[in-house]
Formats: sequence, structure tokens, C-alpha cells
Amino acid sequence: MTALRQLFVTTALPYANGTFHIGHIMEYIQADIWVRYQRMRGHAVNFVCADDAHGAPIMIAAEKAGQTPEQFVAGIAAGRKQYLDGFLISHDNWHSTHSAENVEISQAIYRDLKAAGLIEARTIEQFFDPQKGMFLPDRFIKGVCPRCHAQDQYGDNCEACGAVYAPTELIEPYSVLTGARPELKTSEHFFFKLSDPRCVAYLQEWTQDGRLQPEVANKVREWFDLDENGSPKLGDWDISRDAPYFGIEIPDAPGKYFYVWLDAPIGYLASLKNLLAKQGKDYDAYLAQPGLEQYHFIGKDIITFHTLFWPAMLKFSGRKPPDNIFVHGFLTVNNGEKMSKSRGTGLDPLKYLHLGMNPEWLRYYLAAKLSARNEDIDFNADDFMLRVNADLIGKYVNIASRAAGFINKRFGGHLGEVSPDGDGLLTHLRDALPTVTQLYEQREFGKATREVMQLADRVNEYVDANKPWELAKHSGMDARLHDVCTTCIEAFRILTIYLAPILPRLATEVARFIMRPPESFDDVLTPLGRGARIGEYRHLMQRVDAKQLDALFELPEPAPSAPHAAETPVADAPGGEPLAPVIGIDDFAKIDLRIARIVDCQAVVGSTKLLRLSLDAGERDAGGQPRLRNVFSGIASAYQPGDLKGKLTVLVANLAPRKMKFGLSEGMVLAASHGDEKTHPGIYVLEPTAGAQPGMRVR
Ligand SMILES: [Zn+2]
Repeated sequence: MTALRQLFVTTALPYANGTFHIGHIMEYIQADIWVRYQRMRGHAVNFVCADDAHGAPIMIAAEKAGQTPEQFVAGIAAGRKQYLDGFLISHDNWHSTHSAENVEISQAIYRDLKAAGLIEARTIEQFFDPQKGMFLPDRFIKGVCPRCHAQDQYGDNCEACGAVYAPTELIEPYSVLTGARPELKTSEHFFFKLSDPRCVAYLQEWTQDGRLQPEVANKVREWFDLDENGSPKLGDWDISRDAPYFGIEIPDAPGKYFYVWLDAPIGYLASLKNLLAKQGKDYDAYLAQPGLEQYHFIGKDIITFHTLFWPAMLKFSGRKPPDNIFVHGFLTVNNGEKMSKSRGTGLDPLKYLHLGMNPEWLRYYLAAKLSARNEDIDFNADDFMLRVNADLIGKYVNIASRAAGFINKRFGGHLGEVSPDGDGLLTHLRDALPTVTQLYEQREFGKATREVMQLADRVNEYVDANKPWELAKHSGMDARLHDVCTTCIEAFRILTIYLAPILPRLATEVARFIMRPPESFDDVLTPLGRGARIGEYRHLMQRVDAKQLDALFELPEPAPSAPHAAETPVADAPGGEPLAPVIGIDDFAKIDLRIARIVDCQAVVGSTKLLRLSLDAGERDAGGQPRLRNVFSGIASAYQPGDLKGKLTVLVANLAPRKMKFGLSEGMVLAASHGDEKTHPGIYVLEPTAGAQPGMRVR
């Protein structure tokens, strides 16, 4: 048995402003497989995570929800367990960055960095929302891009042209919170001097010494390139924010708080400390162990924080830096949109569980796709069904079902002798132990599952060559039947141990009938042996049903009370058609409806359907003159041009202009008609009651 290792392993802290998406679950499954592997090697692991609870976005989201930030993050935290338990994630502790441990450790690290001469106070100019009375984070300022002049771009970068800039460079900036024009105000901020030669030298070594994944090391290397002044691009890091802020107070600096990204990774240590206290263990003594290894599983969107800021914070505050950072790519779903921290619910993990889909299907499928590289992987529904049904169940689970029945019915549940051909197969399976364990150690889970499936192929070849169902028909073949089925059960036991980090629940169920739990990889080497008793085999795993996948990716149903198009009774089809799917108020708010006066109405030469309307929707041109809109409307069957002139109606004012045969149509007027125009002819243009004025919004 290998010497015991002490491992401290984390997954990235999810931001506590929303529920988990499938990207979180993928990371937890990846780390969980590695942790379970380490435990099966006999190593001691503390596997922790926590909610990342601080920062302006949470403060603002809580305010919108009418809650304190503490109440808001507690509500999010309460929803975590159903996902973690549901996908069999074995964290030892789940804590919060809004905790006494995190305050204590964050302030201590800050004091130590300050004592090391790496904290500097500087006065900076920053945008301030005068209505809200607070400094605005970059993401809460919008304006016109200084480069491409696209409207409504964030304060840090332009989504239209990709430019990166400071919020102060925006043209016509405004506060997202109040719409007010932000004012520049000076404030004292604290900086972590990453540009200090000590930090640069240390980080250059730490990131480029071969520990990081090559693609990650390459990406990080750019930060050490020199700018035009000959200094590395790695600049000093602004670690403070002004009150009001939901965060941790900076010692000896009233009204100043740590920027959320300073105390977020410290949350790893806070969660560890909280765990050790529960175990009655000493935190300082644990971290002081000379052989302690520290690993962080993260997504590729937070590499900079974890490979530069975090090791430097730990190193220069006199603490142990991480041993490595394991970076994974994003998960796309059916080659669709990116699943990143901020968006993406293509595969709703809770819906997956609620549909009764087996969490180990997903664990196996993701394991089969994951490698040690930082690369994106795709969840493909057809591929998922194939790999689970054909490989996991067809090749592996079926081995047990083909052999266990005979052992129980014919041999009283006792295993027999294994003859040389069977022993050759089992030796081949046992010999794979170093390969399989090495692949797990290297996080090459895809290669590990391929290796195990190849072993399963060998077992199935053996079964097909010996045909136990044929042996069972011939009276003189009992000994051979016993031999073949014993070989199959032992082979199945070995494969189960190899797959146990990926399929922990299945391994426990297998242990129940094989009567020996797979606690260690070395159990592979100790056969059950002749005479060993096995219990009754019960079906271990269902196949994926295509209907489950259809349901998983079906768009959300409209609210239950809304009629369903396919089975709508006539009474629920007012005006000759069923109601459209339910929308939220946000969807409705996207449509800008305005009162407009029909200044002129003309027949359109060459069209029997259209009338040309000139509409005054209260708009003015640069010279202050009314700007009229030209709109073509399909109402000529119901109205003569003279009928409508001077009347008010409702205009869809933000509809994209449409080029038509007769000219440009700059909007649409609202009119009512029956769903079946043949049986119920008639079109009725909407007209507001008296008093409405052109330009008023309809809401
Ligand atoms: Zn731009």
C-alpha cells in the first residue's frame, strides 16, 4: 500500500446569487471522482467548498428581493443540498465566505501582506451614483462604446466590438441602478503590489515550473510580457471597495471593505477551518504538516485569480501556496450555448433529477468525456444514451446479470473453482490496476473509462465463448457452468472497483450482493475465492429512455392553467385561436407600444391589402419638427383611407424597420381580427379612449 498522503481539495466557490447550473455540477463531479479515487487509495482527503457570498451584485440582488444580503445568501445556500446529494458529491464541508472564519483569516492575511510591504494606499477616481450614494462597480455602469459607438455597453468592455476600457472612457455613461449620470469622485483604495519584483519573480517560477497544465501555463505567461515602459503587464491589484458594500471590513480603515475576489478564495481556508473545528482538529497544525498537498479545481474563466493573485497572497503572507490548480473547460449542451458562470441553463440539473434520471448516468458520461486538459466538452443527448445503454449497461452491468442467477439457482449462492482459462482473464483484469489508478491520478477519466470498457469487452468475449446459458442445458456441464459463472462474478467485482470513484452508489449496491464492499483499489488483488457466498442479484441499473431526454430538453411548459395548443377545447380558443404560451413581464416590456396619430392615410397603388399610414408618435427631429413614421398596414379590406385620417391608434414603436415592395415600414399598428378570417371576416384598428396623446407609452 502506498504511503498515506494528506490532501486538501476544493471546488470553486459558486457565487451566491443563483442556483447551480450544469457547469457547476460538472466541476463537482470531476473533483468528486478524483477525491473518491484518492480515498480508495487510502489517502486522507478534506474536500470542501463554500458559497461566495459577498460583493455588490449580491447586495443589489438582495435589495431588489426586499431582503438583507444575509437573508438572500441563506436562501441560496438552503437550495444547494438537493443538487449535491442528488449527484452524489462527497464534499466534507460546505461553508460560506460570510463567516467568522473568513473574516478572521482574510484580515490576518491582509495584515501579513501589509507587514511584508505589499499593500499600498492610492487615491483613485471612480464613478459614483449620486442618487444611490455609492461607488459603482464596472458592471453597473453602461454607456456608448468609445471605440465602435455601440449603445448600452458595460463599463469594462464592449460586447459589440470586444474593446476593453475603463468605465471613465464610456461616452454618455449612466448608472444601471438609477439611470443617473455618474460623477467622478476620488477615494482612497488599497492595492496588492503584484508588480513588486518579489511577486513577479515568484509567480513566474510558480506558474512556469511545469506544475500547471501546459495550456494554462501558456495563457498565464502573457502576464509577464513587458509593456512599453519595460514593466510586466501584471499590474497591482485593487483589493478595496468603499461602503456601502457587502463584505469584510479592512482592518484600521473605516468604511473600506475587501473586494469580493480577495476574500472568495480565502473561503477555501475558512471552510477547511470550520470542518476541522467540527472534527476537533487544529487548523494551524493541519496546514503545517510538511507533506500536505493543496489542490483547487476551477473553470477556465477564473484562471488569473487562482494562478496569480491566490498563490501570491498565500506565499507573501507566510502561508502555504497551493500545489496545483486543475482547470477544466466549459460544458456545452447539444453543441449549443456556452455554460459559463453567468448564464446557461440548457441542461437543468434539478430537472434531470426530478425526471428520475439516474445521477450515475451523468457521472459516467461526463467521466467518459473528461481529460486532464483545459478543454470544452459537449453534452450530446444521443451520445449520452449510447454510452450509458451500450457501454455502461450493455458491457458492464450485464456481466453480473448473466452469471449471478446461475450461481444462486444452481449452486446455492456459493462460488466455485476458477480454471486456468478463467484465471488468465482475471489476471489480465488485475494487471490493469497500475494503469487504471494512474489514469485516475492524472485526471484522465475518459482514458480510464475506455480502459475499463476494453476489459469489459474481454469479459464479454469470454462469456460469449463459453455460453453459460448453453452449459446450463446440459446435465454433465455443471462444473464448467460453475467455473464460468464464478469467473464472471469475480471479473464483475474487479470492474466494479475500477469504476467505483465514478459510480459510488452502484458500487455500494454491488457490494450488497457480492458481500464485500470495495473500499480500496487493492481489493482487486484479493479474489472472493472458492466457497464465498453471494447474495441475491437485483437489477442494478435501468437503461436511459429517449423520452426522458426529450423531456429534459423540452422548453419549459406554460403555466398549468394556460391551455395547451394540441388539446385545447373550443371554449378555450377565444377569438378562434388558443392563447399563446405564457410570457413574463420582462418579455412584454421589450415591446414598446406608443399612442400615434394617423396624420395621413393613402391607398397603395398595386396592392389591394395595404394602406400607407403616416403616423405621429410624438417624435421630433433635430430641428424640433414632428418626425412622421411611414407604416404599411394590411387593413385595406376593412377601411377606406378617409376613415382613419386624424384618428389615434397604437403603434409598435420599436419593431425593426422592414423593407417592403412599396417602401420602408417603420413599425406596426395594432388591429384585432378573428383566428379564422374566412368564417369571421373583419379587421378592427385599435383606438384609445379620449385624452391619450401621441407618444404616450402603452403598458
Ligand atoms: Zn464597441
